[in-house]
Amino acid sequence: MRPCSPQVELQENATLTIMEIQFLYTETCTNPTRARDVFREMRDIGADSVVICVYEQDLLRWTKDLPRLFDEAAKAGLRRYVSYGRFGGAFSGALMVPSLFTFLRPDTGIVPSDPKKATDGEADVAASEYFHRISCVNHPAFRKYMADQTHEILTTFQPDGLLFDEPKGLRLVCECKHCIAARKKDETPAEANLRFQVEFVRALADQAKAHRDGICTALVVGSNDDDSLASFARIRSLDVLGTEAYWVNRRKDMRWLRAWCPKEVQRLRSLGKKAQVWAGNYGLARAQQEDLAEMYRIIADAQPDQLANFWWWRGSEDPERVMELTKRGIQEVRSGAIHRAEGRGKTQQRKTAR
Ligand SMILES: [Zn+2]
Repeated sequence: MRPCSPQVELQENATLTIMEIQFLYTETCTNPTRARDVFREMRDIGADSVVICVYEQDLLRWTKDLPRLFDEAAKAGLRRYVSYGRFGGAFSGALMVPSLFTFLRPDTGIVPSDPKKATDGEADVAASEYFHRISCVNHPAFRKYMADQTHEILTTFQPDGLLFDEPKGLRLVCECKHCIAARKKDETPAEANLRFQVEFVRALADQAKAHRDGICTALVVGSNDDDSLASFARIRSLDVLGTEAYWVNRRKDMRWLRAWCPKEVQRLRSLGKKAQVWAGNYGLARAQQEDLAEMYRIIADAQPDQLANFWWWRGSEDPERVMELTKRGIQEVRSGAIHRAEGRGKTQQRKTAR
């Protein structure tokens, strides 16, 4: 079973696995006609799957709308991934909204050992203290809430995949009584904290696989946390490790990306997982946006298992040009991948025939 990779049909009933191309959906959940058009457009560009953020309020307030959105994506031929929208502030989300659970249960909040360090990687965002008002992954009430919510997500939407987007507690050492009690003698508070984050994600990934073995479980970390992927690789129920080719955020250029991307894809594979790369197709100045064409070529050459892209995402000076380059880049990646796959298929067929 290949839960995370699409397959193409070749001649003579042969199939080959190719790179999965994803978009993060960022439009309305209440207008099914608009969603239908968007999903068709994504599919026409070459996408195989769509990532949809589900927020805590969605399960309470949009009970007819969200399942309908997932149905529309399936009808368009897209595999559907759920990304936890904040949920206790433990993960990222397209919207910067506080968690309902943490708002109602402030007693579950982390007790940061160093609030200043807690905003690393998010300090460019106003109100960065928002990022440490989150629930502790070791608090029993939060763990139960996440298990309950995950059950609801899995049964309501029947997604093809789950995305753990940028765990927010990675650098946030917590001094609450649950964390202090759970630390081992031979680990530093930071090492213990990383272990807690891994155990938290493991519990959710295990739950998803128990629900349906074929579900694809993926985790991506922010650029400052690439090293932590080696620890998450120890989760057997996690299929995909993701990293971000956000050269602008990282204050790098194409020369850096050309060296980094293939090395990082190989590193993630060597950890025993499929490799996912997120395209930096957002937040671009006019002077930077033309680099997108080269970025897609570099990613195509590095051949990750999954390529995630943003759909009309924020902060670019010329969003229309950014989307034009995104579409072109994906189409080149897709046609190149199929071409390569067909080449490999023919070689294999020739080898079999000998
Ligand atoms: Zn804690």
